[in-house]
Amino acid sequence: MNMNYTAEELAFRDEVRAFLDEKLPADISAKVKGARHLSKEDHQRWQKILTAQGWYATHWPEQYGGVEWSPIQKHIWDEESCHYGVPRSIPFGVNMVAPVIIQFGNEEQKQTYLPRILSGEDWWCQGYSEPGAGSDLASLKTRAVREGDHYIVNGQKTWTTLGQHANMIFCLVRTNTEVKPQAGISFLLIDMNTPGISVRPIITLDGEHEVNEVFFEDVKVPVENLIGEEDKGWTYAKFLLTYERTGLAGIGMSKAALSHLKTLASRRLKNGRPLIEDTAFSQRIAKVEIDLTAATISNLRIIDAVEGGGMPGAESSMLKVKGTEIRQAINDLARRAIGPYAIPFVEEELDYDYEGEFLSDENAAPLSAQYFNNRKLSIFGGSNEIQKNIVSKMILGL
Ligand SMILES: Cc1cc2nc3c(=O)[nH]c(=O)nc-3n(C[C@H](O)[C@H](O)[C@H](O)COP(=O)(O)OP(=O)(O)OC[C@H]3O[C@@H](n4cnc5c(N)ncnc54)[C@H](O)[C@@H]3O)c2cc1C
Repeated sequence: MNMNYTAEELAFRDEVRAFLDEKLPADISAKVKGARHLSKEDHQRWQKILTAQGWYATHWPEQYGGVEWSPIQKHIWDEESCHYGVPRSIPFGVNMVAPVIIQFGNEEQKQTYLPRILSGEDWWCQGYSEPGAGSDLASLKTRAVREGDHYIVNGQKTWTTLGQHANMIFCLVRTNTEVKPQAGISFLLIDMNTPGISVRPIITLDGEHEVNEVFFEDVKVPVENLIGEEDKGWTYAKFLLTYERTGLAGIGMSKAALSHLKTLASRRLKNGRPLIEDTAFSQRIAKVEIDLTAATISNLRIIDAVEGGGMPGAESSMLKVKGTEIRQAINDLARRAIGPYAIPFVEEELDYDYEGEFLSDENAAPLSAQYFNNRKLSIFGGSNEIQKNIVSKMILGL
């Protein structure tokens, strides 16, 4: 495998850099780099810029307004955009439900929903997990009963990321209780403004309102909002998960976080000398950097296989486990680097326009919040234990 970019790939990277130099708003980039709060409006503003460039939907067919980047182009975008401080794309519309609609939806659903995802008119959230159905998703209980030309939905979803901003939710619902669990699930698109839906915040360890509980009480959903066939939702749900897991390794983000860690450790002093010169601490940084380099090469290896027509299988599970462990290790080192300043946490310091005094310095302010928030990385998108089960079965043959 040739690890060097081709002339075309280098030209693409230059094009990406030129675009980001010109179009990425400075305030948004500063918020991302400083790990400050991003508003819904910030995400929407950036999305509009990407859509105008034609770079928002990077794996949709062109006929629906997408651009079909190769895996290596996506990799280049990931590295460059993380380096520049581009906000992470909110995946639920563009990367999750859209591929399902394109693959399994009818023409009317494509015409209705895809343009609204591109324009940012719809903000989607994901209604898969329930209090008793996470890793064992097929045991979900939210019930949809057909009555004439509607389904009546009752039940509860949980951990619904950014559901407080969403006007649409895609849900797995149980339409048949007489068959084995996987065979009685359907995939419904639900307008969050329908009477009977309520959203309650879950406040996470870092004080953030990122996830929610969503309750459904006699919610009337038109049958035309069903994707594909009734009771076939498990097939569509699994198809969507392959998109969800792609990119969870977060190599680009870890590279940006590692660079931030090194800056931090160069500024902090231990016994009068920069922390980065401390033998024990620099060894820890070196270890995580070696792991990250290995993960980057594994990622390129998988990309190379996909470019050659292969499908990422258990390798993406391996990469998800390694990638998230690396990210959490970097967060841990950054938190250690600021020592006692990691303990007091002033949430207002994460506001971009905060004008008060910083307890430590402004680079230290978000580190504890990030450390706690990123505990989620090894849980969502299929927990790391579940990914290890996949690796042990499919790669080790256990
Ligand atoms: C921050 C955050 C955001 C999320 N956003 C969304 C969202 O937007 N929409 C959505 O639908 N869901 C979302 N989720 C839910 C997420 O997908 C689930 O948390 C995840 O699937 C794990 O399910 P669970 O929390 O019910 O844990 P459980 O499945 O109850 O697992 C508990 C523990 O047991 C382990 N375990 C379970 N089964 C096995 C097994 N067979 N072998 C070995 N170990 C096992 C797990 O690894 C875990 O450590 C989010 C979760 C988090 C934390």
